[in-house]
Amino acid sequence: MRTILCTLVLLLGMSTPARAIDIERVEPANWWVGMRHNRVELLVHGKGIATSTPQLTRAGVAIVDVQKTDNPNYLFVTVEISADAMPGSVAIEFVEAGKVVATHPWRLDAREPGSAQRRGFDARDAIYLVTPDRFANGDPANDSVPGMTETANRANPNGRHGGDIAGIRKHLDYLAGMGFTQLWPTPMLENNQPQYSYHGYAITDLYRTDPRMGSNEDFRALSQEAKAKGVGIVMDVVLNHIGSRHWWMRDLPAKDWINNGAKFAPTNHRRTTIQDPHAAPADREAFTNGWFVDAMPDLNQRNPHLARYLIQNTLWWIEYAGLSGIREDTFGYADTQFLGDWAKAVLDEYPDFAMVGEEWSINPAVVAHWQRGKQNASGHVPHMPSMMDFPVHIALRNALVQPEGAETGWVGLYEMLANDFVYPDPDALVVFAENHDTPRLFAHLDGDLAAWKLGMAYLATVRGTPQFYYGSEVLLRGPKERNDGQLRADMPGGWTGDAADAFTGTGLNAAQREAQDYTRALFDWRKRTPLLHTGKLTHFAPLDGVYVYFRHDGAKAVMVALNRNAGATSLPLDRFDAFLRGHGARDALTGKPVALGDSLRLPTMAATLLEIE
Ligand code: CA
Repeated sequence: MRTILCTLVLLLGMSTPARAIDIERVEPANWWVGMRHNRVELLVHGKGIATSTPQLTRAGVAIVDVQKTDNPNYLFVTVEISADAMPGSVAIEFVEAGKVVATHPWRLDAREPGSAQRRGFDARDAIYLVTPDRFANGDPANDSVPGMTETANRANPNGRHGGDIAGIRKHLDYLAGMGFTQLWPTPMLENNQPQYSYHGYAITDLYRTDPRMGSNEDFRALSQEAKAKGVGIVMDVVLNHIGSRHWWMRDLPAKDWINNGAKFAPTNHRRTTIQDPHAAPADREAFTNGWFVDAMPDLNQRNPHLARYLIQNTLWWIEYAGLSGIREDTFGYADTQFLGDWAKAVLDEYPDFAMVGEEWSINPAVVAHWQRGKQNASGHVPHMPSMMDFPVHIALRNALVQPEGAETGWVGLYEMLANDFVYPDPDALVVFAENHDTPRLFAHLDGDLAAWKLGMAYLATVRGTPQFYYGSEVLLRGPKERNDGQLRADMPGGWTGDAADAFTGTGLNAAQREAQDYTRALFDWRKRTPLLHTGKLTHFAPLDGVYVYFRHDGAKAVMVALNRNAGATSLPLDRFDAFLRGHGARDALTGKPVALGDSLRLPTMAATLLEIE
């Protein structure tokens, strides 16, 4: 027996075949020649990979750094790509004891011409926001997909309803025809979570489009088709957290990859702690390191490998999908220093790109902290070109809901806009009446169509880039209190057999048609009216239920008069002499001439929109 054992050991010892390592992931899977970011750190995942040494032989490409973490199943391999490297495949070998234990085919691609010079969205644009699962089901075959835990159930308000990229592609002409020039879909990356996966913010693979939405190639095709119709794609990026079923959670790349020791502890949502000179450090830490919910582990962007991973992931999607902008989720919840580094890296690569951050605060000083050019007492140097204008969003809603008074109604909106002095670039903000997280304006207004139209007129004419939420043009209403599944209701006509169809107009009632026609007229006018993009805004203190402002450039002007009075109102015009004296006027939406005498008759609860000639 002993002899047999010895022989076996000898035989095994003599052959010692090098073990093969299964490379499970190398991310990013490719890069492009000619990027400014030409040192790419590859995350390599495979059981025991850390004991191997990567190597490659390829002109113009070299491995310049290899880093290990406390998890032996990961290697971070930095490759440097020279400007004259040829696109094509790159074989990366992993060597152990002189033997190749794994080979991975990596790839270099050629960039699209003009990629670095791409123009991001700005105030010339108007953004249409959709919740893709709820917009249109273009491919019922992908509603439920093997391997994806949650299957479609349209009867469940919090379930998946089957909307997808194919559905959006079918209706690009519709939204372009409504006057919109940018499309912001909420995240479409893989969310392989057991429930609520439709909302998209619990991402389980940062490099993969959810197969229930389509493929990465489908996303790219959507972007190309949209661009051909004059519509750019704004991608919704989540830097703060991932989904609890993200593959990282099964084998963390490092012990400090997830905040709070990878265990759930809720954020306190105290966003003011970032700047508050009196804030307790523990509160500040609880804000950024706490998790949103236990299904969304909070990422620790202070880990340099994770920080590079996230930056490269953003660059990858811009380059791969030909994006024209990014909306970044839950902005201030991520590490402050990292947020600056991330935004700077994107703008270093794409100087004219657009990015807008979500900082859900009613306080302009809190929002302005993040905008490029802001001199902060905190010392933070921000790089974001744009932020979502939550203060104006809330003030607009309040203005339309409150009774008109000396300190309520239009005055609140007027005084909120006056806070623009705290922003380095207020014209770059994105303004909105509602989004996928807020009750719709129509619900807040208890279905008052006239008041809703006033809100839309403001949105289309105030400074900044307007963002509209899908379905409001056909008066999707939803609950007045926050109820996500219901405020993200299905777009009528997005599903075969729907009784009404917003895209064709079939089955819409008179109020829906009126709202849709008004939205189209407003945003079509806005699209062809440069004054509404770049004109200076001068507003007059609201008086007797009327708020008047002008967009002007020294030669021409647009006059906006918003009347909330229950009854037609005679507006004396002498206050506006500087803009009106000696000029004619034309109704902006009908083109009909309007006489400018001593006063102007304003219809009840309506916006009067005049082009001053
Ligand atoms: Ca589908």
